[in-house]
Amino acid sequence: DCTIAGYDDELAKAIADEGQRQEDHVELIASENYASPRVLEAQGSKLTNKYAEGYPGKRYYGGCEYVDVAEKLAIERLKQLFDADYANVQPHSGSQANQAVYLALLQPGDTILGMSLAHGGHLTHGAKVNVSGKLFNAIQYGVDENGLIDYDEVQRLATEHQPKMLVGGFSAYSQVVDWARMRKIADSVGALFFVDMAHVAGLIAAGVYPSPLPHAHVVTSTTHKTLRGPRGGLIVAKGAGEEIEKKLQSIVFPGIQGGPLMHVIAAKAVAFKEALEPEFKSYQAQVVKNAKAMAKTFIERGYKIVSGGTENHLMLVDMIGKDVTGKAAEEALGKAHITVNKNAVPNDPRKPFVTSGLRVGTPAVTTRGYKEADVTELANWICDVLDAPEDEAVIAAVRSKVTEQCRKFPVYG
Ligand code: PLP
Repeated sequence: DCTIAGYDDELAKAIADEGQRQEDHVELIASENYASPRVLEAQGSKLTNKYAEGYPGKRYYGGCEYVDVAEKLAIERLKQLFDADYANVQPHSGSQANQAVYLALLQPGDTILGMSLAHGGHLTHGAKVNVSGKLFNAIQYGVDENGLIDYDEVQRLATEHQPKMLVGGFSAYSQVVDWARMRKIADSVGALFFVDMAHVAGLIAAGVYPSPLPHAHVVTSTTHKTLRGPRGGLIVAKGAGEEIEKKLQSIVFPGIQGGPLMHVIAAKAVAFKEALEPEFKSYQAQVVKNAKAMAKTFIERGYKIVSGGTENHLMLVDMIGKDVTGKAAEEALGKAHITVNKNAVPNDPRKPFVTSGLRVGTPAVTTRGYKEADVTELANWICDVLDAPEDEAVIAAVRSKVTEQCRKFPVYG
């Protein structure tokens, strides 16, 4: 017998329990999704055994003929998905893809201008605790009093600090970014324009959110969020030119990585094929419809949404001035089997580990099959808990309704 169960029961139980948690709890973390059984199959395949340093056709190891097929499929499908003419599928994660871009195109000490973590950007866009904020002189932009990206402020900061790179993209922003305007700002100071589309990559692939590719010099993404693939990263570009492409290729390997994860690349290939199917377009359209339905319910129940609503897969519930903190809300909802993450809202008076916000996203529930009526019920239950986060009877009642709803929509059947 070569299964984990019977050999390592403690681990087998953790894996089984996590699978059961995914079935029994409703997942609203905006950066999560459920990869398909095909993606899981590829990721659990024997391709994990293969060293393949280099790129298809130019490897530093023998025996790469079959993994070359997998990587070429991933590259071609990725190009098709985003109408790109350059694609690298080797970055192990979103953070590593971003690191590759910075190290390929900048020198340590150069100035970058990215969205601040506190206003919806990502750690890797220049936060002080991240290498992007340590290695580079990171200047940060944010949102205005209406929760919208303040492009005039971005322009003012660009003119003042003359960055070498302007960074677009976000982890907690629910509106459409004006990529053309951002490129104009970058051009006005001779900066490169880099977009990290990790959160909205699936929406972009499906055509329900504008693509940054026509505007940016280079674009990165994760593959596991709205794109619904395996955990990983990617780099794409359109019209970047040979010089930039060469730098990107050589920084990923041998610059910052060794052997690519060929099983993950195979899983990316199958995820990209799934994303090219017509059903992926209707899925992403439903993700946005569901997010809008949830935002509407929160507003009707007296909870503010940062920026006033959502045009994508996520929203930030603003609880400044409410008795409940982000931390307390996350905990109370967790007890009701609703998984969300606390999130700072712009100008949050509470500490980053406490916060006054919740980030709510619909990619995972939409994969389960939830439609507007289902997420509206769910948003109302969330409000019931937020209205009385210490009321165990309310929490128990919501948990039982959530459990029933989850049973209606099995994840893996
Ligand atoms: N970029 C953005 C915009 C993200 O939101 C995230 C993760 O949440 C990342 C990059 C990092 O991806 P990873 O966790 O794969 O390093």
